[in-house]
Amino acid sequence: MGIRINKKLEEIPPSGIRKFFDLISTRKDIISLGVGEPDFYTPWHIRESIIYSLEKGYTAYTSNWGIYELREAISSYYKKFGVSSSPDDVLITTGVSEGLDITIRGILNPGERVIIPEPCYVSYIPLVKLAYGNPVLVPTSEETGFKIHYEDIVNHSDPPSKAIILGYPSNPTGVTYSKKELEEVADAVIEKDMIVISDEIYAELTYDRRHVSIASLNGMSERVIILNGFSKAHAMTGLRIGYAIAPSDIMEAMLKIHQYCMLCAPVSAQMGAIEALKNGSKEVDKMRNEYNRRRKFFVNRLNDFLSCQMPEGAFYAFPSIRETGLSSESFSEKLLSYGVAVVPGTAFGKTGEGYIRCSYAVSMEKLKIAADRMEEFIGSIARERV
Ligand code: PLP
Repeated sequence: MGIRINKKLEEIPPSGIRKFFDLISTRKDIISLGVGEPDFYTPWHIRESIIYSLEKGYTAYTSNWGIYELREAISSYYKKFGVSSSPDDVLITTGVSEGLDITIRGILNPGERVIIPEPCYVSYIPLVKLAYGNPVLVPTSEETGFKIHYEDIVNHSDPPSKAIILGYPSNPTGVTYSKKELEEVADAVIEKDMIVISDEIYAELTYDRRHVSIASLNGMSERVIILNGFSKAHAMTGLRIGYAIAPSDIMEAMLKIHQYCMLCAPVSAQMGAIEALKNGSKEVDKMRNEYNRRRKFFVNRLNDFLSCQMPEGAFYAFPSIRETGLSSESFSEKLLSYGVAVVPGTAFGKTGEGYIRCSYAVSMEKLKIAADRMEEFIGSIARERV
């Protein structure tokens, strides 16, 4: 029998997050700051609207594009981030995950380059590789705020890249971009004639400022594919619902893939998403306020024994563990015996070495215990060194 598996997959490791968490799923004593998932239930009014839609018999395919009312709601919702679009520019996807896949496959030809600032969300590099593209990894560092700057893009543009994937607020670092910083990125993108894949899934979870979409900047609307969804802000991860707002030529390409590989996003989730956008903003505010409270508590507590910048968005802290002398992987493994699971920074690329990602989408009570256990672990490392 010949080779039965796509050779590309040999280049793609299993997700560093799942790998780690499959290991500990059986251990009840461990507090997991691992998987990036809200600990809230989907707000009741959203669940209720889904139940009601099922009672009314909404179980059939929708249009490939998604339900028009939802596309309208998304188009007007995005005005809040300075983006004007028509419902016809909106495609409903099965989560941002599908949005990323069909965008990347929709724009790339084999061998074309895509700039990806590292550390980055786990799916960006594999999806580019699966589309036979060429990921150009641009390291960012704590010293430059884990952000990509004008020079980084220009310096990595020979040979030229077709696109850049920008995720902000960022998973794993929690940093986000100000309007001024995005303008700098936009200048380079225009100069180098590139497309931006803008993953804004954590837009609503921005704490001390308002989220700005790069698509709202001068000259950018024709260059940006916005990807967003309901998983994080509305605690709807398992419902698998997201959307893309894209220029018409790119949207046409994305729709072609979507209609053959997905047909449409789940109808129940689309019904829930309509309710989320119509009546969900108070619940989003409540969850954001709670994450914010936890963010301040947990990051301040981490700084008692590690060094950690205050994240500006999402629900992740990304402390440095360099002082301990351990690698990210070995730190995370050893910390397990103190009853806390975190993700090694290296799950998000080589530049994540020396860091761990801790999700604070867990209760305050658990965060307190986790911080105490982490402090005890750091104390034990210090004692071993003496
Ligand atoms: N993009 C980022 C930055 C994420 O952190 C995640 C999930 O963790 C996703 C996309 C996938 O989101 P979805 O549940 O909408 O597929």
